[in-house]
Amino acid sequence: MFSFVINRVLSVYHLIYKNKGVYYLGFFSSVIFTYTYYSYIFKKKNSNDIKPVTEVLFFTDANANHNDYSRDCKCTQCGIKNLKKLIIYIDSAQVSLDICVYTISNTKLGEAVLRKYKEGIKIRIITDASMSFEIGSQIPLFMKNGIMVRSRESQFLMHHKFAIIDNKLLINGSFNWTEKATFGNWENITITSVPHHLVQRYCSHFETLWKLLY
Ligand SMILES: [Zn+2]
Repeated sequence: MFSFVINRVLSVYHLIYKNKGVYYLGFFSSVIFTYTYYSYIFKKKNSNDIKPVTEVLFFTDANANHNDYSRDCKCTQCGIKNLKKLIIYIDSAQVSLDICVYTISNTKLGEAVLRKYKEGIKIRIITDASMSFEIGSQIPLFMKNGIMVRSRESQFLMHHKFAIIDNKLLINGSFNWTEKATFGNWENITITSVPHHLVQRYCSHFETLWKLLY
């Protein structure tokens, strides 16, 4: 639209002054304007698509009595609040969910993983072999439902606590996916999509472990 107007204005100049230079100036400035305008629109559209996520959740002994899932507490930080946030991120998965966590016994997180699996999200779980069948472990339930789980008996504990959503959002920290970590420990979780190369290092290491444990 604007480039059209510029072109018209300069064409009129051309008619008046019969100046070829002005005509070419009009033509090239229209091309440059149109290119700049559309690359701006394109960049804006794409930057919205990949809006970075960076969040840290801290689990502390503050509001330690807030451990009722049905409770809608007003506090800014407690186990319930953090857990609900973590589940919102898990629920945001559109394609895949790769989990590499030492122990998974938190039933709410277990339910979230199972829910995503039933929605058709590709789930892969790497966990520590010695913890898989401990009381409360969600691993038997995952396996019973057909979720892919890999682990290996080893002197080396599979001690990681990271997960990757859609190969672009990293969840990582001290937090094991347990009730104790949620309501009884000082813990941290970083949730981030940036920097991209760092998240990709986790994706790549997950693939390495997945192949190794086959
Ligand atoms: Zn609370």
